[in-house]
Amino acid sequence: RAAAERRVAHEPAHTQDGALIEVRANVAGVEEARAAHGAGADGIGLMRSEFLFMARKQAPDQDTQRQIYQQALEAMGDHPVIIRMLDIGADKQLDYLALPAVPNPALGTRGVRLMARHQDLLDVQLRALLAVTPLDRLHIMVPMVTEAAELVAVRERLDTLAQEMNLEGRPALGAMIEVPAAALCADQLARVADFLSIGTNDLTQYTLAMDREDPDLAGRADVLHPAVLRLIDMTVKGAAGRQCPVGLCGAAAGDQQAWAALVALGVEELSVEPARVAAVKAGIRRLDRAALARQLRTWLDEAIDSVTLRQRLEQWLQEH
Ligand code: PEP
Ligand code: MG
Repeated sequence: RAAAERRVAHEPAHTQDGALIEVRANVAGVEEARAAHGAGADGIGLMRSEFLFMARKQAPDQDTQRQIYQQALEAMGDHPVIIRMLDIGADKQLDYLALPAVPNPALGTRGVRLMARHQDLLDVQLRALLAVTPLDRLHIMVPMVTEAAELVAVRERLDTLAQEMNLEGRPALGAMIEVPAAALCADQLARVADFLSIGTNDLTQYTLAMDREDPDLAGRADVLHPAVLRLIDMTVKGAAGRQCPVGLCGAAAGDQQAWAALVALGVEELSVEPARVAAVKAGIRRLDRAALARQLRTWLDEAIDSVTLRQRLEQWLQEH
């Protein structure tokens, strides 16, 4: 079956009831982007640019970054590439930034909050991103957004730099939905963003107040917790009608019961590890999205926990 799945992995995947669900890939660098293209990914849904910074003793300069972003774009043929701006802080640190040690780094200066402290560093990254071609295939994603004003500030900075570089075009700019505040304000974010992408790893951690790295909590920190599902439902509804597509780039995108539930809630792009692309596309082709959506709504009306929901989803997916 795996060989048959791989053969059709390069074709777009539609559900049984005709919805196109894009399956893109999460990558850390150019090698993985090539692997993603080879595996049939419909684009890159998340390139974690912090890995370029973590692999070095100092921040990569503008031209080094530009070359890597350009190569990632070239690796993907005609497909879109979402590059996430530097997401440092919490579990990911850079010695050369010397961020002050704080008692609770997961709630500290991380992601887009770094802009206030390290504008210079992020300017270099934005200039490097603006220097790639073609700009219309490049999408820039902002991590750890909690309110629309943060995205507006990045867009203004991007505009200023693009004007300095005499550029006509602008890349699409999107926000990650990975803290409850962003999900609760998704309708506002959708007014100022070109796309939204749900980061289920952090959204689950921050919603449930369960550290994503804590092995004792690993079994309970589940995206299928009804509170997390409600936030994702709000995100999809908040973006609906605003021409602001909603994707998913956390680990849930590669977890069969989770992605099926989130597609049923209306997510239309999944970003997974390159090696999962073929299997996820095959699962999409077997899924009747509308039927699962109806079933899911009835389950979510009950007092259901994530363990029970997972079991029911597993059984439903086997039977349908
Ligand atoms: C997430 O939080 O779900 C996400 C995709 O970002 P990261 O795992 O890099 O924090
Ligand atoms: Mg995250």
